[in-house]
Amino acid sequence: MKELVVISGKGGTGKTSLAASFAVLADRPVIADCDVDAADLHLVLSPRIKERHEFRSGHEAVIRQDDCTSCGTCLAHCRFGAVLTPAVQDEWLMSGGTGLNCSDCAYCERSCGSRTNAIIGEMRTALGEPRPAAFAVDPIACEGCGVCVRFCPEQAIDFSERLSGEWMVSETRCGPMVHARLGVAAENSGKLVSLVRREARRIAEAGDHPLIIVDGPPGIGCPVIASVTGATLVLAVTEPTVSGEHDLERVLSLTRHFNIPAVVCVNKWDLNAEMTERIEDKTRKAGARIAGRIRYDRAVTLAQIRERAVVETEAPCVEDIQHVWNELGL
Ligand code: SF4
Ligand code: SF4
Repeated sequence: MKELVVISGKGGTGKTSLAASFAVLADRPVIADCDVDAADLHLVLSPRIKERHEFRSGHEAVIRQDDCTSCGTCLAHCRFGAVLTPAVQDEWLMSGGTGLNCSDCAYCERSCGSRTNAIIGEMRTALGEPRPAAFAVDPIACEGCGVCVRFCPEQAIDFSERLSGEWMVSETRCGPMVHARLGVAAENSGKLVSLVRREARRIAEAGDHPLIIVDGPPGIGCPVIASVTGATLVLAVTEPTVSGEHDLERVLSLTRHFNIPAVVCVNKWDLNAEMTERIEDKTRKAGARIAGRIRYDRAVTLAQIRERAVVETEAPCVEDIQHVWNELGL
């Protein structure tokens, strides 16, 4: 079984469009969308979801209001400013925010013509809304370090695993697909990428699929490393710009470091032929192979709007993509 990972040094180079086209050109591959921070392969491949699973990662502190004595120990020890005092929560609620005790019914917004904080505050008081009496943790600011849990004298802080997103197994017109959605402000995308790849591999082995096509994340950080380690081949997609050149250098240095064979393709090459030559020259010097060039083609955007892969259209650049696919030799 082989595994092709399509990555780019920066977003917006056409990586996902190429991955979708390869999924169509290959013979029933397993497809893995590992760009979990900004997944969008599903927009083109229209997966029918068969399984959904929670992704839990890291921890979050939650203060049990009935057990907290407001001693302030957690506030003093939290280095991330995540602990909210009763006064801060009160202020937050008064300003119309969705505070921890607010059920977000929007009653005040609907009823208060002038939207002034004072009126909203008076309304809350008139409605008998309780003022926060205990400390609370802002779930967005909490880094899950656990220091407050350790120091709380009342042991009033729960520390459960955080629900950070979900991952799905789907069926598409090209083959099975594993994809995921990371929650807003959630972390550990590298861990989720590893999970998606592992599941894709399990499906490929069970179904005797010879190829996994991975749409990797942009950049060179943790999720990218989680996407490429152990892969058969990495296709680095770039574009003929100064940032494209610079980011490609970083990607090739990463693949060299992990000893993964890499090939390069310059997308929209005709927008700057001179820069394309320069990038290809640098690619050869870095010991990587050139898989081809793809011309700039407005039909790529139209294909996306129609939820089709580019190679499912009559676009002029289809022959370029087919050439790159043949060059990969998979
Ligand atoms: S949660 Fe614990 S440490 Fe924090 S204020 Fe309440 S009792 Fe004190
Ligand atoms: S777990 Fe860490 S970051 Fe979160 S509230 Fe406690 S001390 Fe602050």
